Amino acid sequence: MEQPPSHSLSYNHDYHCPLCRRGRITNLSMMEAFSCNFCEHLFTADLDRQLLTAVDTQLPLTWQWNRTNWTRINPEGVKIGWSYLILGILWVILPTAIVGFASYLFPPLPGSGLSWFPLFWTIVTFLSHFICLIWLLLEYYQFPVRLYLQAVLRSSFS
Ligand SMILES: [Zn+2]
Repeated sequence: MEQPPSHSLSYNHDYHCPLCRRGRITNLSMMEAFSCNFCEHLFTADLDRQLLTAVDTQLPLTWQWNRTNWTRINPEGVKIGWSYLILGILWVILPTAIVGFASYLFPPLPGSGLSWFPLFWTIVTFLSHFICLIWLLLEYYQFPVRLYLQAVLRSSFS
């Protein structure tokens, strides 16, 4: 097992990418910036404070280098806490409960042609809200889904 490198953040070394956790970030020549060879995101570095900030994401994602690994630093005013987690769960549960409760209160006539529809609609409501929640999480963390799947397919066929 290869030992992880232990050195401070500088433009002379390359590091594993804190965003996709798959690629390597290297210094862009003649610029005070890093770029990832996998997710292709750009980063600026604060070498004094050992900070790396993604510059091409919607939120200013920042990590601190502790000589072997990255630690995520939450930007000021943006913090994903318990309140957001509870809101996300309510976003999925509440509409599903409303639709499911309505079909429970007003069940279709037994044997009617569309008696399957209330259950189908409850499942569609759950899935659509759940997919929205996952999409928001992927957007927040800027996870490169398409590039990740391509790399997984490449490595499984070679
Ligand atoms: Zn990357």
